[in-house]
Amino acid sequence: MGEIQLTDLTKRFGDTVAVDDLSLDIDDEEFLVLVGPSGCGKSTTLRMLAGLETPTSGDIYIGGDHMNYRVPQNRDIAMVFQDYALYPHMTVRQNIRFGLEEEEGYTSAERDERVVEVAETLGISDLLDRKPDELSGGQQQRVALGRAIVRDPEVFLMDEPLSNLDAKLRAEMRTELQNLQDQLAVTTVYVTHNQTEAMTMADRIAVMDDGELQQVASPFECYHRPNNLFVAEFIGEPMINLVRGTRSETTFVGEHFSYPLDEDVMESVGAREDLVLGIRPEDIAVVDATTDDTADDTADDTALGDHELRMDVTVVEPHGDQNVLHLSHPDQPSADDALQAVTEGMHLVTRGDRVTVTIPPDKIHVFDAETGTAVH
Ligand code: ATP
Repeated sequence: MGEIQLTDLTKRFGDTVAVDDLSLDIDDEEFLVLVGPSGCGKSTTLRMLAGLETPTSGDIYIGGDHMNYRVPQNRDIAMVFQDYALYPHMTVRQNIRFGLEEEEGYTSAERDERVVEVAETLGISDLLDRKPDELSGGQQQRVALGRAIVRDPEVFLMDEPLSNLDAKLRAEMRTELQNLQDQLAVTTVYVTHNQTEAMTMADRIAVMDDGELQQVASPFECYHRPNNLFVAEFIGEPMINLVRGTRSETTFVGEHFSYPLDEDVMESVGAREDLVLGIRPEDIAVVDATTDDTADDTADDTALGDHELRMDVTVVEPHGDQNVLHLSHPDQPSADDALQAVTEGMHLVTRGDRVTVTIPPDKIHVFDAETGTAVH
């Protein structure tokens, strides 16, 4: 079985704490994606799992067996790196076969058969006699995968395996990797700093920052119920709107606007006063658009609903079937954007429009401004 337990895992390099007391259980056959910004400790975690780094403290178990002192060859894992690491002088067939080099119990004919089988799985049967420099980046990546899966390991470890591919190929390979994982049912730990890869491929995402685990949850959960400001900002594109402010009675008072807090939000907020309001751009809806920006704002605002705001559109970024709107408050036109909103379809909003937007109260996130922890 390929279940993995990491308990209180720490890795120091001199004064740098690369991984800080990380505990994480990964299920058999799970696809877990480790994400976080550059330097957060993802690769070091993966390298400890692979046996390429020794933990400073803590324990690693794979399939219930203690791994700390086992050499990489005895861990029943296969690793796929960003740079493929193919041998240039070997053919595809030899490169894939090389994955079986350390394996015992195969006859030579069985090794050849296994290579053919794997090439078929990956759709590269017609490339078996080529050398790596006769292959495209995507084909090279498949060969690197072939070399990993040929051994039929309990665990795949993948470190940014798609980052050298162009955007289109990366999207294709994401789907292929998922299909492959479904088919092979092998526990996979996949490192990336790309949140789209994390969101689209993972059963669960483990978000790391500064060596520490911030949240381990499904992509849905990380997106809809982030544990803290870091996760809220890291997951989601375009980024969540974060507005700092204070609570005055039952009203959130931010720099650019005020917003009434419902009873259930107030219950979660308790006595806290310094808050950060988080609103996903997708959750802001334009309910009315007008090009008449000479209207009297005061008169306008009296007509607004409780959760509505009057904003000016400063930038419209078209993204095909949706637009990202940059919005500023009419009273503070020169201030930085107060909010960004995503509108679907052909919403006819243009730069300079004054719009009414609504922020549904059930969609807001509230964080403690001091600790960054989600409170609602
Ligand atoms: P990236 O996405 O840029 O690869 P990462 O999240 O994988 O980053 P790590 O490579 O795990 O991060 O590095 C975590 C921290 O440990 C960084 O501060 C890095 O500089 C440091 N580090 C990693 N390897 C070593 C090493 N061999 N010696 C000294 N410091 C190291």
